[in-house]
Parts: sequence; C-alpha cells; structure tokens
Amino acid sequence: MSGVRIGVLALQGAFREHIAMLKRLNVEAVEVRLAQELDGLDGLIIPGGESTSMGLVAERWGLVEPLRRWVRGGKPTWGTCAGMILLAENATGQKLGGQALIGGLDVTVNRNYFGRQVDSFEADLDVPALGDTPFHAVFIRAPAITAVAEGIETLSTVASLGDETESVIAAVRKGPILATAFHPELTDDLRWHRYFVRVVTEYKSCSG
Ligand code: GLN
Repeated sequence: MSGVRIGVLALQGAFREHIAMLKRLNVEAVEVRLAQELDGLDGLIIPGGESTSMGLVAERWGLVEPLRRWVRGGKPTWGTCAGMILLAENATGQKLGGQALIGGLDVTVNRNYFGRQVDSFEADLDVPALGDTPFHAVFIRAPAITAVAEGIETLSTVASLGDETESVIAAVRKGPILATAFHPELTDDLRWHRYFVRVVTEYKSCSG
C-alpha cells in the first residue's frame, strides 16, 4: 500500500472506474457520499459525469459546503471533466447560473466546449509532466479551459474546435489541485492516477 487514502466522490458518473485505477496502484480508495466520509482522507477525486446532476445531488446531500471547505483547506483534489467544471471559479455555457459550485481553481471553463459539435473523441496529448510518451485522452462532451489566472500551470493542451492551429487547455495544476478535461479513468494508462497519488503523498508528508 502507498500509505495514502483517497476518496472518490460517488454521487454520479465514472467513480467506479477511478476506484479501480487507484486499486491497481495499490492505493486505498473509498467512495464518498457523505460529508463525514471526507474525514481522514488524504486526497479526493471528483469524477466525470454530468456537472449539473452532480451539483444537485451534492446540494441535496449537504455536501457543497464541506467540499468547499475541503478544497479551500488546501487538500489535494483532482477534478476530471464534470469534476473540473465543479472546481472552476468561472464557468460559461452552464445551467447553474455561472456561479462556481465548489470553486477553488481560478480558471474559466466552457462547460460543453466540445460537446456541442462532437460528442466524444480521442486525441494523443503531449504531457511533459508524464514523460515523453503522449497520453491517449478520451474526451466525452468535454469542457475546455478558456482562461487561467496567474500561477496556474498548464499541463496539456488540445486542438481547439474549428481551428487546428489554435489550442485550448485540457489539463492544469495549481499546487494540490489538478484538473483534466478528459477521462484518464477510461483508459488503461495509469500515469495520471500515479501523478495524483504523488501529489497526495507530497502534501501528506508536508502537512503530517
Ligand atoms: N460537459 C459535461 C457537464 O457539463 C461533462 C461531461 C463529462 O464529464 N464527461 O457536466
């Protein structure tokens, strides 16, 4: 075991797949549905799915404030796809009134950037933080990051819609917060999960 315990928000979406990836890395992984299940965790993954539904369930179950406290408290958090939308301070093209649901990551996402025209696609992304081999990324009705505040590190980009010579941001990191517009849990490539486990381990050793 790696010695860290990571929760996956299990309200809706692809949480089982994240748990399976973490288990393959010998990491203790648990489903999170209640605020008290955040206690004792070293990291949290907010999966892909549908951000509006996930937000509504989180509100109904009283999880929004505990999740905000978790993220603002500097706890390692990784949002994939819909999870990334929930972490963004600003979102465009969304039903929830443009207001951040959880927030904490100072970026602007376009919630259905790719969703309107191409439901899903795959692309090989250069991700220097993961090494030389490109990462084969699966995008499903995917958002994109259209603006970032100072201090946000871009980990990867993808060709923008309609103009292959331009790109939009597909993965970012700010300290303990990681966000990817695509779904690493739907591939066989464990590198993003390993990367997040490393972030979680580093933060645990700093704060512990
Ligand atoms: N665009 C979707 C949303 O608004 C996210 C899609 C996904 O997570 N695969 O929630």
